[in-house]
Amino acid sequence: MHTPDPSLNLEQDPRYVAGVTGRESPESGVVVSFNPATGDPIAGVKLDSADSYEQTVAEAQEAFKRWRAVPAPVRGEVVRNIALEMRRLLVPLGELESMEVGKIRAEGIGEVQETIDIADYAVGLSRMVGGKTVPSERPLHRMMEQWLPLGVIGCITAFNFPNAVWGWNAMIAAICGNVTIWKPSLLAPLTAIATNNIADRVATEMGHPGIFRLVIGTDDEVGERMIADKRLPLISATGSCAMGRHVGQVVAGRLGRCLLELGGNNAVIVDKDADLDLAVKSTVFGSVGTAGQRCTTSRRLIAHKSIVDEMTQRMVKAYQTIKIGDPLAEGTLVGPVIGERTVEAYQNAIEQAKAQGAEVLVGGSVAKPDGLGGTFVEPTIIRAPASNDLPIAMDETFAPILYVFTFEDIEDAIAMQNSVDQGLSSAIFAGNVNTTERFLAVDGSGSDCGLAYVNLGTSGAEIGGAFGGEKDTGGGREAGSDSWKAYMRRQTCTINYGSELRLAQGIRFE
Ligand code: NAD
Repeated sequence: MHTPDPSLNLEQDPRYVAGVTGRESPESGVVVSFNPATGDPIAGVKLDSADSYEQTVAEAQEAFKRWRAVPAPVRGEVVRNIALEMRRLLVPLGELESMEVGKIRAEGIGEVQETIDIADYAVGLSRMVGGKTVPSERPLHRMMEQWLPLGVIGCITAFNFPNAVWGWNAMIAAICGNVTIWKPSLLAPLTAIATNNIADRVATEMGHPGIFRLVIGTDDEVGERMIADKRLPLISATGSCAMGRHVGQVVAGRLGRCLLELGGNNAVIVDKDADLDLAVKSTVFGSVGTAGQRCTTSRRLIAHKSIVDEMTQRMVKAYQTIKIGDPLAEGTLVGPVIGERTVEAYQNAIEQAKAQGAEVLVGGSVAKPDGLGGTFVEPTIIRAPASNDLPIAMDETFAPILYVFTFEDIEDAIAMQNSVDQGLSSAIFAGNVNTTERFLAVDGSGSDCGLAYVNLGTSGAEIGGAFGGEKDTGGGREAGSDSWKAYMRRQTCTINYGSELRLAQGIRFE
């Protein structure tokens, strides 16, 4: 049985509960973190209550008053040291993720690397966040924008990125002068404790305690309180569209700011002149990586009718060689899904697809690799009926199922790709620049997603770009580009350095 590495000091955390049976319930004040590969409990975590939530917010407000007064480049120095400590603990932290959410080892480590990358990016940003001076229409006047810290930020994260999504928010928020209160998924509380403790320890040792806060609690007790809390000017929430719809309404009701990163239903278009080797490799990674539990997972393949058979045959062949098993074992490419509810959703989607006239080409069953007692399913490819009519494919089933559709005309392929409610990630494989430019058309008539890839799959974003999606994906942007602006407030300042009153628009008031 795998256990968290002692270098993460989890057992010293006051929330950590050793020796759990797995039968403890959140009502008893403890949530149990299970290893989805074995079904065994790893440890328990004491839950926050309404009272401890109150205390956390009150302390965070005090910490904010101190932190905002620290010059931004000095904040960057704190983040730089956090990145160094994350580098030191990269492997144990990545492996803890594998244990807790079932990502294969390379993906667990890769996710922590993403936090390191965004921290490095934030360090540079700490010397760059600033406003511009705008020409004033009045003589002897200066007009300029300045960007100010926002306050105490609420960060709600999904189970499947239990480290990097916090990193995207907390590292940028920190250099902007904010304090982050993180409410992680109850499916990944140990990764959250280990991650937050690293940041908090480094910041505290540098004389800045309380910048990175954690609340671990149920949605009823803590989640609802957090989203309704006027003291949190920004709620950054990552998760399902259903969650985002609710969170968005509650935060809008108090006129707060929301940054929503929600579900995706991402398609890959493969045209007749595509490099099929590249398309197959990328689409296999995009559809089975993280056992189909990425927001950017490839869920639909829309292939030209002249290559659809070859493409699917090659995909099926590749799927048959994929090793499913212990995510920490060498050679495993697909680990478990997070739990029984996902297995049920997977089975239900496959049944519905069959009832809607689709054919299962490979996979379709629960798996029991290496005698492990966890929740495994076979990566599955399903061919839609010739009519392309397959309602179940319009939903995001958070499991490794890829639906295959056929097109003749690129306009139909783009319309098909845009026909779902979500608008996160999209990809095209094609050899003709006219086709790829059509997909990226500057008038906005191509892909309607926040992310558009050419000759690359839908998953695997770099931190330097703004990450997020349109429509039911929520419209938020995190990570690179100018996403930092979401974590600051803008002030337009106008200064009269003359001695006369000059009114805008030439108004005379004498
Ligand atoms: P989920 O919606 O079940 O939960 C996400 C988070 O929201 C959890 O922390 C949960 O406790 C919290 N939450 C739920 N109800 C709440 C409430 N009423 N108040 C406050 N918090 C509440 O999602 P999940 O199963 O953990 O993650 C999978 C989903 O997340 C998928 O839809 C996936 O596409 C999406 N996701 C999106 C992105 C992105 O960047 N767009 C990234 C990762 C995951």
